[in-house]
Amino acid sequence: MLSAEIIAIGSELLTPEKTDTNGLWLTGKLNEIGIEVKLKTIVGDDSLRLEETIKDALKRSDVVITTGGLGPTEDDITRQISARAIGRELVFHEEIVEHLRERFRAWGREMPEINKRQAYTIEGAEILPNPNGSAVGMAVGIGEKFLIILPGPPRENQPMFNDFVFQKLREKAGEIVFRKRILKVSGLGESAVDEAIAPIYSAYNNVSTSILFNKSEVEVHLTAQGANDIEADALNAEIAAKIVEKLGIAVFSTEGEEMEEVVGRLLTERSETLSVAESCTGGLISQRLTDISGSSRYFIEGVIAYANEAKTNALNVSPEIIEQNGAVSAETAEAMAKGMRARAKTNYAISITGIAGPTGGTPEKPVGTVFIGYSDEKLTKSFKIVLPGDRFLIRWRSSQAALDYLRRQILKK
Ligand code: AMP
Ligand code: MG
Repeated sequence: MLSAEIIAIGSELLTPEKTDTNGLWLTGKLNEIGIEVKLKTIVGDDSLRLEETIKDALKRSDVVITTGGLGPTEDDITRQISARAIGRELVFHEEIVEHLRERFRAWGREMPEINKRQAYTIEGAEILPNPNGSAVGMAVGIGEKFLIILPGPPRENQPMFNDFVFQKLREKAGEIVFRKRILKVSGLGESAVDEAIAPIYSAYNNVSTSILFNKSEVEVHLTAQGANDIEADALNAEIAAKIVEKLGIAVFSTEGEEMEEVVGRLLTERSETLSVAESCTGGLISQRLTDISGSSRYFIEGVIAYANEAKTNALNVSPEIIEQNGAVSAETAEAMAKGMRARAKTNYAISITGIAGPTGGTPEKPVGTVFIGYSDEKLTKSFKIVLPGDRFLIRWRSSQAALDYLRRQILKK
C-alpha cells in the first residue's frame, strides 16, 4: 500500500485564526483509493524548515502533497523551495504569463508584474491547470515517488486534485479501495462496546475498526479494504451484521444515520405519528425531527411549555400534579406526554422536563436531572436520568435520550 504525507504551508495555519482543512480533505480522497496518509505537517512560510520538511517527506513517503504558498507575493515560497529541495531548476513559461494576462484583462485589470513569478514551474514537472485561480499546480515524478504541489485555497485545489491528480494516483495505487461505515450505539459505554465486539472485528485483518465516544453515543467506525467498492462494502456489511447480532437494539444506526432519521424511518414504515412536549430542551427535539425532509408525514405538533401555567393550558397538566411533585418530576413528564398525545391525536407523544443548569439545581434534583415521558394508546410512563455536561450538552443528551427511548418503545411494540 502506498503511503502519503501532506504538507500544509502557510504561517497563518499555525495561528488560531486559520485551520488547515486541506489536509483533512486530501486525506479523505487518498483513503478512497487506498493510499494511507501517515503524517501531516504544517509549516510556516519559512524557507529552511520548508526545504527540510519536503526532503524528509520524500525520504519516507511515496506520495507527498503540499498545499499553499503558490501566490505571487514574497512570502509565497513553495515554488523555489520545493525546486531546491529536489535539486531542480525552475523554468519560465511565457504561455502561463500570457494566460494570466488574459485572466486579468477579463476582469478589466492589468496583470501586476509580480504575478510573473507564478509562471515558473519545476523542471520536468507536469503543470496542473487552475481554472479557479492564478497559481498553477505541479506534479513531479522523482524516481518512484510523487511530489504534488497544489495552491492553498480549497476552491482551487479541490477541482485541481479531482481533475488532474486523483486518477493518476488511483492508477499508481493499483486496485485497492477503502470504504467506511459507521455504526452508532446508545446506552453503552466505549469499553462495554469494545469488550463485546472486539472478538468480532479482530478476526478481520483487512478491516480497521475504531471506537469513539461522540456527545451521547458510541460510534464504531469500520474501514474495509478490498479490490473494489463492492468487495469492501460487503466486508463492512458482514461485520456490521455481526455487531448488530451481538449488541441488538442498542445499535441504532448502521449507516451513520442520525437518531432523528432513524426515528423518522421507523414512524414512516409504520405510518404512525408523533408529537413532542418540551420543557428543558426548548424545542430541540422538534427541531431535530423536522430537520429531516419529509418529517411532516409523521411529526404532527410540538409544544414548548416552560411556565407551569403553560403546561396546564397547552398540555392539560393538572396544577395539583405540578404542585405535589414539582415541574421536574416523573408525574409531570407523564402528564405532559399524555396531554400532548391527546392534544395532537398522535400514536406517540414524548415529553421532557429537566434542569439544564447551570442554575436551578437542588440537592434532590441536581443540574442534569431530566425526566422523559412517553405515551402511546396503551400506556404512559417515564424515566429519570441524571446527565453530565454543561447546558448545551445536557440539552443535547436529553433530546437524544428521549428519541432513543421512543425508538426502543416503537421496536418493542
Ligand atoms: P496561499 O496559496 O498560501 O497564498 O494560500 C491562499 C489561501 O488559501 C490562504 O489565505 C488560505 O485562506 C487558504 N489556505 C491555504 N492553505 C490552506 C489549508 N491548508 N487549509 C485551508 N485553507 C488554506
Ligand atoms: Mg500563504
